[in-house]
Amino acid sequence: MQGKEDVFDIVIAGSGPAGSACALALKNSGLKVAMVDRSTFPRDKICGDAIGGRVKKVLREIDPDLLAELEGYPSKNRSSGWKLFSPNGKTIEVNFVNPGYVSRRLDFDSWLFGKTTGQNYLEMIYSEIRDINADTSSVQLTLQGDRKIHASLAIGCDGAHSVVAKKLADFKVDHRHYSGAVRAYYKGVEGTLGSEMLEIHLVKGFLPGYFWIFPLNDGLCNVGFGMLSTDIKERRIDLKTSLKQIIQSSPALSKRFANAELVDDVKGFGLPLGGKERTISGERFILCGDAASLIDPLTGEGIGNAMLSGLYAARQAIQCFQKNNFSVGEMKHYDEAIYKKLLPELKKNLMMQRAFNRPWLINLLVNVAIANPGLKNWFAKKL
Ligand SMILES: Cc1cc2nc3c(=O)[nH]c(=O)nc-3n(C[C@H](O)[C@H](O)[C@H](O)COP(=O)(O)OP(=O)(O)OC[C@H]3O[C@@H](n4cnc5c(N)ncnc54)[C@H](O)[C@@H]3O)c2cc1C
Repeated sequence: MQGKEDVFDIVIAGSGPAGSACALALKNSGLKVAMVDRSTFPRDKICGDAIGGRVKKVLREIDPDLLAELEGYPSKNRSSGWKLFSPNGKTIEVNFVNPGYVSRRLDFDSWLFGKTTGQNYLEMIYSEIRDINADTSSVQLTLQGDRKIHASLAIGCDGAHSVVAKKLADFKVDHRHYSGAVRAYYKGVEGTLGSEMLEIHLVKGFLPGYFWIFPLNDGLCNVGFGMLSTDIKERRIDLKTSLKQIIQSSPALSKRFANAELVDDVKGFGLPLGGKERTISGERFILCGDAASLIDPLTGEGIGNAMLSGLYAARQAIQCFQKNNFSVGEMKHYDEAIYKKLLPELKKNLMMQRAFNRPWLINLLVNVAIANPGLKNWFAKKL
């Protein structure tokens, strides 16, 4: 492919949840689209694998048949609520208003990506994006092997380390709005078989961090530990070591993991959190999902917001072509639409995340919630 040049209307960088949702939403646009990903699918993505209720809503908006297909998709476990274990050992259970699923990203992303394949309007290019530049007339991408792609518009869905965000929006990591987390798969964790509850454990000695156990459909559990980057740095936390220490040091957890088997390496990745307004578009580009820092700062969920932003980006792209306008001013409509929908919830959950860094407050809230079911219902509506 050395030196080959291609011209498209739109190039989508990355085919995770944001990119695939965007590609699907462009189906009847009449535009010529390229989607570039360095991975072939199925591919893993380090994640808690919790597919929240928003994913279902976005799928329904793109095409109700997609939601029906996900509902019939076998590689998933239903998730009907959270079970929070507070540092004082007490627990509360909160049922979701919109239940979701737990599905390995290896499976879910491959399922979603699979819906984009075999379409005439879309060319899939498996390659690494090495560079991107934009000027008033087009965007140019340089792929591995020096292949060049030209397009009128680039949609950056290339995740937490987005080349598009770094190059075109000058994004830098803000550690106050960034978390680190590790994920492991365990077989045989006691008390999880058939469970639909997403467990969050706030463990004494490992705060302000959160340990999770999310049951999958095949007897395995996604187990992980995450913390805000500023705390990781300040306290010099090794997340991988902490995950194992939590299991060993907590009497309740060590009992439940006594016969459990780690089935894969413990792996870590970053979470660019939302809650702070940024510029997520510019002349001839739009950012979506992790590339736009849209992860919920309280729950760590980013798949639903990634897909929602992919859908909104597709709508904005169609507007750009109809008006033949790819200016900063036109793209601002995308920022406004995303932040109108997501910023109030992201800001509120950022405040809750900051408050939950105080163990005494969590203990107090859990005690109050146990005594007051009304507060539990309030929580359920917030999650
Ligand atoms: C440990 C952990 C636990 C999490 N738990 C949950 C959870 O339980 N539920 C939830 O909703 N969210 C969770 N998240 C967040 C969630 O994983 C992300 O928000 C989500 O994956 C964002 O989707 P995306 O499409 O924006 O990016 P991604 O899923 O990262 O997809 C980006 C795609 O771009 C491709 N790409 C990247 N760079 C290039 C390049 N230079 N060239 C070509 N291709 C490229 C990648 O191969 C990838 O396919 C978690 C995150 C972490 C780290």
